Amino acid sequence: MRILVTNDDGIYSPGVAALAEVAAKFGEVRIVAPHVEMSSAGHSITAARPLSYKRTPMREIEAYRVNGTPADCVTLGVSQWQHVDLVLSGINLGSNLGNALWHSGTLAGAKQAALLGLRGIAFSTPATETEPDFEVLKPWVAKVLGLLIPASELVLVNVNLPAAMPSGILWTRQSVRHYDGKVVPANDPMGRPHFWFTVIPVEETEEDTDRWAIERGYVSMTPLRLDLTDEALLKGVRIRRPVESISFA
Ligand code: MN
Repeated sequence: MRILVTNDDGIYSPGVAALAEVAAKFGEVRIVAPHVEMSSAGHSITAARPLSYKRTPMREIEAYRVNGTPADCVTLGVSQWQHVDLVLSGINLGSNLGNALWHSGTLAGAKQAALLGLRGIAFSTPATETEPDFEVLKPWVAKVLGLLIPASELVLVNVNLPAAMPSGILWTRQSVRHYDGKVVPANDPMGRPHFWFTVIPVEETEEDTDRWAIERGYVSMTPLRLDLTDEALLKGVRIRRPVESISFA
C-alpha cells in the first residue's frame, strides 16, 4: 500500500515525521508537504503560478517539499507517485475540532485526497506550551490506522488526539457552534490601527462531538463527507417554497 503523508505545518514539523514513521508500519510512505507553514490555508489551491517539487532529506523517509498549500501537495504528490492508496495529513500542532474544519489546512490535505477519488485521514493534537509527546501518541495513531485502513467505506476521517495519554477512542460527530464574532481593535507600535479576531464559541460543547471527546481525553474519529447539502432542508424547501412557478417572462 502506498501512503502519501502531508500536513499544513510545513515539512520540517515534528508532527509530519511522527505520522510518517507510524504510517511506514502500514505501507510504503512518501512525504509531500508545504515548504513553509500553511496553517489555516483551508482548501486553497495555487492556480496562478507554477509549483516546485524538491527532494528533502528526512532520515529514512523519502520526502519532497512544495511551495504551495496542503491541497497542492496532495495533487502534485499523487501525480508524481503512481498508485497512491491513502493520504494522511498531520499530525497537526493544534486541534482541528468543530468549526476549525472550515479553515483547516490539515483537513484540506485529506479532503483533497477524497476529491481525487482516494481516501484521506487527518490527524491533529492540541498545541500546548511544550511540543506534543509524539512517543505517547504514536501507538494511538497506529491503533487508529489499524481501525480505519480496513474500513474502506470511510473515505474521509478527521482524527484528533488529546494532549496527554488518551483514555480510549470514540466515534464522534463534528461540533458546530457559533463564534462570538468579536473583533478586538488595537494599535501597532507605530500607532496604526489593527484588529484581532477572537474565536470564542458561544454555546456549550454538545455531547458525542469531536470537542466533547477531546475535552474528556479521548481520541476522536469523525467520518466526514464531501457533500455539504442539507438533505432534510432541501426536501422541505422543495415542498414549502416551490420555485417552478416563478417566472421573469
Ligand atoms: Mn497547522
